[in-house]
Amino acid sequence: MQQLTILGSTGSIGVSTLDVVARHPERFTVFALTGHSRVAELAAQCQRFKPRYAVVASAVLAEELASYGLPETEVLFGGEGLVTVAGHPQTDIVMAAIVGAAGLMPTLAAVQAGKRVLLANKEALVMAGGLFIAAVQASGATLLPIDSEHNAIFQCLPTGAGHTGSAPRVAQGEPLGVGCAFGVRRLLLSGSGGPFRTTPLNELATVTPDQACAHPNWQMGRKISVDSATMMNKGLELIEACWLFNVNEAQVDIVIHPESIVHSLVEYNDGSVLAQLGNPDMRTPIAHALGWPERIESGVAALDLVATGSLNFERPDLQRFPCLGLARAAAREMGDAPAALNAANEVAVEAFLSGWIGYSAIVEIVDGVMQVWDTAEPVELAEVQLADQRARALANGYVARVRRG
Ligand code: NAD
Ligand code: MG
Repeated sequence: MQQLTILGSTGSIGVSTLDVVARHPERFTVFALTGHSRVAELAAQCQRFKPRYAVVASAVLAEELASYGLPETEVLFGGEGLVTVAGHPQTDIVMAAIVGAAGLMPTLAAVQAGKRVLLANKEALVMAGGLFIAAVQASGATLLPIDSEHNAIFQCLPTGAGHTGSAPRVAQGEPLGVGCAFGVRRLLLSGSGGPFRTTPLNELATVTPDQACAHPNWQMGRKISVDSATMMNKGLELIEACWLFNVNEAQVDIVIHPESIVHSLVEYNDGSVLAQLGNPDMRTPIAHALGWPERIESGVAALDLVATGSLNFERPDLQRFPCLGLARAAAREMGDAPAALNAANEVAVEAFLSGWIGYSAIVEIVDGVMQVWDTAEPVELAEVQLADQRARALANGYVARVRRG
């Protein structure tokens, strides 16, 4: 029986994880759930799964959760509560599904404690990639990607070769040279192009948060939905792929695939291209990582290729998706540039979702921060956190200027 902690259990990934877990009561026990401020949802999850711990944002919310009467569950709160359950000696698997930089510390705590870490929280790896991977290697944690593209690439890499029960990297140590490790030539990340793939460019300035969050293929939280509309999500995934698989930015291509059936691809020296296909349902990568190396039932409907009919691919247009260019530049620089990119993007997306700035201002704000950013090489976590704070302060300055008009 494996004991599972879900960081961010009330979110889209968290709910899908519990759906898969509920199909395998003989395999998984829920050890801890965390829900930040969605207390009613978290209480319902606790009543059903009876975890030993639940974590919310504050003492006040902890009292509110406890008032639901949860005899089996001890309620903790704040960042300390998250770190406690993520690194707890009695937990085996940690699903890292908090959104944004807030997930970094608990995810890192799980890594440092040597857990099997199922990584949905891409922002944590984008922010602190070098330190994160070093921590995985030091502790012997098993890092399995939940992001559908990276999970697909993981599935298309040779077994036994890149992932020796630890991080699923194409090359250990030296960065992958073209054609040198396992005959991999390049990785191809696919992305749907989001809700605005064909919207006339002159209409983008006035799109609303609800339009941006209406993703054609995936049901996701609001932050990642906006990132999918701008394709910053694919940019963050490019950086995520560099760290997970130990490749450089030039070895990762991005292709638009509106149907979201081909989740990503690996090209080999001999011209073979391996892809992983499936319906766009996150329960597939979640079940893959929960069961790995075994395959377990996920509840996802069988893929009907005939009903799908055709699979299309396009090159992304950088004028429509300028965030891709910004993310590539940050991936080339690395150091604390990705942390700055991520922080500026989080601030800008939050401001857009709050109705303070227009859609087009998101990329302007991130661009403004990156233009003045002096990249440094962080050697400890405190430096990453400082870079995150500095970039947020800069981005907030731009938001204020945009709001003043
Ligand atoms: P969501 O907004 O639906 O859920 C976020 C979860 O994090 C919730 O449980 C919320 O309570 C918690 N949370 C929010 N702010 C917090 C904070 N400050 N401190 C602690 N907890 C906090 O988001 P989601 O769509 O489930 O995405 C979660 C992560 O997974 C993101 O990093 C996202 O990029 C990644 N991801 C999601 C999908 C998807 O299909 N939803 C796919 C790939 C990757
Ligand atoms: Mg993805």
